Amino acid sequence: MKTERIDLPQHELPCKWYNIAPDLPRPLDPPLHPGTGQPLTASDLAPIFPMALLQQEMSNEPFIEIPDDVREVYKYYRPTPVFRARNLEKALDTPAHIYYKYEGASPAGSHKPNTAIAQAFYNKQEGIKRLSTETGAGQWGCALSMACSIFDLKCAVYMVRISFEQKPYRRVMMETWGAECFPSPSERTATGRKVLAEYPDTPGSLGIAISEAMEDCLQHDDTHYALGSVLNHVMLHQTVIGEEALKQMELAGEYPDIIIGCHGGGSNFAGMSFPFAGRKLREGLNTRIIAAEPQASPTLTRGPFAYDFGDLSGMTPLLRMYTLGHGFIPAPIHAGGLRYHGAAPLVSLLLNTGVIEAQAFHQVECYEAALLFARTERWIPAPETSHAIRCAITEAEKCKLTGEKKVILFNFSGHGLLDLSGYDKFLHGELTDYAMPDEDLRQGLASLPKIPGG
Ligand SMILES: *Cc1c(COP(=O)(O)O)cnc(C)c1O
Repeated sequence: MKTERIDLPQHELPCKWYNIAPDLPRPLDPPLHPGTGQPLTASDLAPIFPMALLQQEMSNEPFIEIPDDVREVYKYYRPTPVFRARNLEKALDTPAHIYYKYEGASPAGSHKPNTAIAQAFYNKQEGIKRLSTETGAGQWGCALSMACSIFDLKCAVYMVRISFEQKPYRRVMMETWGAECFPSPSERTATGRKVLAEYPDTPGSLGIAISEAMEDCLQHDDTHYALGSVLNHVMLHQTVIGEEALKQMELAGEYPDIIIGCHGGGSNFAGMSFPFAGRKLREGLNTRIIAAEPQASPTLTRGPFAYDFGDLSGMTPLLRMYTLGHGFIPAPIHAGGLRYHGAAPLVSLLLNTGVIEAQAFHQVECYEAALLFARTERWIPAPETSHAIRCAITEAEKCKLTGEKKVILFNFSGHGLLDLSGYDKFLHGELTDYAMPDEDLRQGLASLPKIPGG
């Protein structure tokens, strides 16, 4: 069978990121100061982020130039290919055309370097010497460690303890690139010590690790903090994915009817879909745009749209987003990158205004989809990515029933070569689903801060 790989020549690497802010159906609700509850100013955030990123965070310009130094580093692995999944289509016997954009080609193995490289660059430019961050399963920690080594910055990563202990390989990658990696909760911060005193056996959570990384940043004058998802500037940097995909679909001579990305904090989903969502909003297209999330952490499908903190101890700004409550600790599914209580405010607003939709999937059905994908298209997907694949297969199966020849495009956010233990369990029938009980939702939502009108 013919392999349909749609490549962009290197000189077509986008020169600009796309900012969806000016195309939104209504403006974003302002981020609020965690102490006062008043709208935040750029100077409130100056101790943790460089000015260039804060300007992007609040920008209303539709396009923002990608610095030449960042484009040069992107050329390591960009433009990334789009593939037509002919073998998968055949196995499903569907009239749908399925395309996927392969973001597993970066040195870190996922889409995350698209923003890590930009963030390291702007921090370096402003004279910062060290970055602190958190990581769940380790993909973001790896991406930032790699980017820091390019721009000669030190890097401190707080890694959710259960992953630190059960998935050592990403820690080894971070250390190989010269970063320091600590299990979170750690004894290095007040938040870490408090959680350890109360729950010595805690598996940790992203919310705890964010608190620790922010504390580390505030304790060190030469250090800024970096976040791998959720914030507007992260969504912005990731749009290089969708900007490329727009051109690649043009080369393929098709325009997607359905666009899909898996959703943890929203960055790969936004990166792929925002350029298409912008066209939908400006030109009145009826493209369906679907965020695929886990049933064990169903932020978009079951959470309220409310102001909440991004971390456990309430150090981050309050953001209006879909949330399960900052005290919510998701079940230990293998898709560690999707275990987050909140969602990007930009993605949340698009969901709230009906521009996009969300669907939740169980762990086992996602592994089934990943296995079919690996046996037809050969790439072994990350457990996070398997949610997008499950969603794409479900839509393609609907096309089989209706006979519709829909064009489906999904983002392949990363490869699963360091996540084989989940496959091992699945192949031996040891994997189970975790549906989130209503009681956990009630408890998580009890942690929502009381904001007037929020
Ligand atoms: C981190 C990660 C995700 C989830 O994060 P988003 O910000 O929602 O994209 C998804 N897929 C992979 C491979 C990841 O590493």
